[in-house]
Amino acid sequence: MRGVREVVVQVVFLAICSMANAIKPCPRATVVRDEVSYCLSWRMSVEANNMAGWRTVPMQCLPYIEGYMIGGQYDRDMDFIADQILSYVKGIVLSDDGMDAWILDVDDTCISNLFYYKGKRFGCDPYDPKGFKAWALKGGCPAISAVLGLFDKLVESGFKVILLTGRDEETLGQVTIDNLHNQGFIGYERLILRSAEHKGQGAIQYKSGIRKQLVEEGYRIWGNVGDQWSDLQGDYKGNRTFKLPNPMYFVP
Ligand SMILES: [Mg+2]
Repeated sequence: MRGVREVVVQVVFLAICSMANAIKPCPRATVVRDEVSYCLSWRMSVEANNMAGWRTVPMQCLPYIEGYMIGGQYDRDMDFIADQILSYVKGIVLSDDGMDAWILDVDDTCISNLFYYKGKRFGCDPYDPKGFKAWALKGGCPAISAVLGLFDKLVESGFKVILLTGRDEETLGQVTIDNLHNQGFIGYERLILRSAEHKGQGAIQYKSGIRKQLVEEGYRIWGNVGDQWSDLQGDYKGNRTFKLPNPMYFVP
């Protein structure tokens, strides 16, 4: 009889605990949820460019950013944006002078540095120019499939696709040409890398200057796609700009 009473008491106690937990989650679950919520706000702020000049991903957001980048959401976001771009492309009537152009950035737009940044804790580690150069010199950046699909459609449709990158022409020119080619980026109009005269310029100034030259040559820039705000700011931005996600680093 005593045994039965003890069991009943235990069951009632457990029921009360579980009701209490339903109302007030355990402290650990709250911490995890608050952290994810904070990191989501952080990423949102980064993508909306409300946090210009940030240098590293906050350490507590490493699991969140890793999950975002390799867990499928990043790829879905890229596919979604590529669809948005293509619905805009469909409405453009091309002229027959061959001067309808699109500008695409290269790093983390056409080809991915995700493998490299995995080793840099998805941007929690500070920028390492030597390390990045060594990675780029391997020429093994894989294509970003959503952008490769977009690239092919643009070329097929008759647009002149101009790839514009801040990569150094002298040291990374050939390897970048080869990397783009081996990943299927074939048929672009021009690949423009940073030449000696543009060394030391910020990305906005450098890319604006190049776009100005292109417009002066007669190109109509219908769209401009990049993973950095500095790809899309400044002068001669293009008729529409499309920001691709990149919560791992910021290029001023
Ligand atoms: Mg880029």
